[in-house]
Amino acid sequence: MTDRLAVTRTRPGRFWPAALLLLALLRPGWVEAHGNAAPAASHEPAMVTPKTVAGAATETAATATAEATPPCPAASAARWQAIVPGVWIWPGAAQEIGPGNRGQVASQILLREGRSATLIDPGPSLAHGQLVRESARCALGLTITRVLDSHAHAENVLGNAAFAGARLEASAATVAGMRARCPQCLASITHSAGAAALDGTTVRLPEASLRPGQRLASDSGRWQIMEFSAAHSDSDLVLWNEEQHLLVAPSLVYQGRIPELAQGSLLGWLAALRQLHRLRPDWVLGQQASRHADPSGTPANSSGLAASHGYLCALAQGVIAALELGRSANEAPEAPELALPAYAGWAGHAERHGFNVQRAWRELEPHWMNGGRLDCAPLD
Ligand SMILES: [Zn+2]
Repeated sequence: MTDRLAVTRTRPGRFWPAALLLLALLRPGWVEAHGNAAPAASHEPAMVTPKTVAGAATETAATATAEATPPCPAASAARWQAIVPGVWIWPGAAQEIGPGNRGQVASQILLREGRSATLIDPGPSLAHGQLVRESARCALGLTITRVLDSHAHAENVLGNAAFAGARLEASAATVAGMRARCPQCLASITHSAGAAALDGTTVRLPEASLRPGQRLASDSGRWQIMEFSAAHSDSDLVLWNEEQHLLVAPSLVYQGRIPELAQGSLLGWLAALRQLHRLRPDWVLGQQASRHADPSGTPANSSGLAASHGYLCALAQGVIAALELGRSANEAPEAPELALPAYAGWAGHAERHGFNVQRAWRELEPHWMNGGRLDCAPLD
């Protein structure tokens, strides 16, 4: 990595005393290791059983050097949820970024292949990335050898800093976006989450090696890589496992949190969600995990995919209704058809919904004037 933004060296010697203190303060919950997946018929992902990890530390010690392998902490904030055998998610908080969540509002997802794992999105910081790396090693017996960045947003990718020994990969557009914006995004998330949470975090750029149609092998079957170039951002990575009917869409599926439309396309995002729904996934791993269909195949209206589609459709329909009433863009913030009280309880409503209204208005006004249609039929 030759880019001047990329700093590849981590400092485990300085990190571990602070990390152990942090881990002791956070809620303990080591998770069960191999083969403890949720039963396929369960409605919610299984929170795996707490256990001690002294054995796991011994088990993995032979595969790493003593210098590079810190001891397993006695307690951890690890919150891995098993979805199917070989797939885990550490859900993001349904909150705005703040000191309380230390910026961890996006999920981390692990795909096992033997003793190794691919991590999708390392999280917001060096410290969180280190916690993810060590909890995977100690609790699941896995070495993260590959990290895929889903898109170029701070809360998803700045944890790259913790994975000096792994292969870091993303789409070309995501790498370009990180190169252009990550100096500012690091400053922004430091302002929101606090300097302590981002201590030591640097921007580490991935390789621009991911392309749509590529396949990725894992113990849970083969994954197909998809990319959406006009949805939440200009490059949103999605992985689809046909065998498991399991969809990984970290940036497109929100739950209990207002979607971020600032760099996206409302119409493009709606089309992407409809396309993903047509894959008929059983599980969708987005900001959190949710079942998208019950065991009989009936869509679950409460899934993250359906909820995200519901908000974005309500937003789009509100803009069209306001335009048809003859309102102007200046009236949009106060327009009752755009208040969307059903989503007032979602995190970020006060901070972001008004901005989303403006963004949606700019996109939909010319679309409406040109006679464009809006496909907001229910997902069925
Ligand atoms: Zn994002």
